[in-house]
Amino acid sequence: MFYDAHLHGGMFPDLGHLLKKLKQEEIAPLLVGTTLEESLNTLASLSSLQVKPYVFVGVHPWYLNAKGVNLELLQKCYASGMVTGIGECGLDKRIDTDMRLQEDALRLQLSFAKEHHLCVNLHVRNAHEPLKQILRNYQGACRGFIHNFTFSYEVARDYLDLGYKLSVGFHLLKTTQKMVDVLKKVGVSSLVLESDADYLHSGQYDASSLKKCHAILAKILNLDNLMLCNSLENNIKEITGC
Ligand SMILES: [Zn+2]
Repeated sequence: MFYDAHLHGGMFPDLGHLLKKLKQEEIAPLLVGTTLEESLNTLASLSSLQVKPYVFVGVHPWYLNAKGVNLELLQKCYASGMVTGIGECGLDKRIDTDMRLQEDALRLQLSFAKEHHLCVNLHVRNAHEPLKQILRNYQGACRGFIHNFTFSYEVARDYLDLGYKLSVGFHLLKTTQKMVDVLKKVGVSSLVLESDADYLHSGQYDASSLKKCHAILAKILNLDNLMLCNSLENNIKEITGC
């Protein structure tokens, strides 16, 4: 079984169709949310489809408004009994949204994850220092994935020490020697694979792209495909606890 550790299923026009396609391709998805309204829609679709993939609910920094995170809606999502984790949430210094608002929204989501023993799926862009500072306050109480891993080994090491796995995606299709060296140093036990597909930018789900990334990663780590499948599955289970 392949795993897609970061997929915006709720942005696809037909979630049922997407999940059917993923099943045929033997890909287990970790669905992430961008808003709580979208997360609630995803949960409603899943309950009518009677399927239970890994589901993350949350507010992405790009979709934050001045009201921040609506705790009531977050609780409503959680009450579905289908929530694996919180996300996509995080910090992004390349957008106009005030950093204080972003940090408050992140703290609220991390506190919710901590309270309910949930893992998190994190977005970070140009904001490693403030993110690490916040995560240190939750060390030992929160665990999760850092999505879109492209950064240096030094930055990666700090996230690993804080209890996170690194989620690597389409950048594998255009690897640099620097990235290969960092991935080797990080090692298979700290990695997961993602598409970050969202329909809006990616179009229909491309299973062959995820599998191509999988083969590239296997080659970099000097593993056969099956060994890599098993390791990535273990990493997902270690973080999600299921
Ligand atoms: Zn994403």
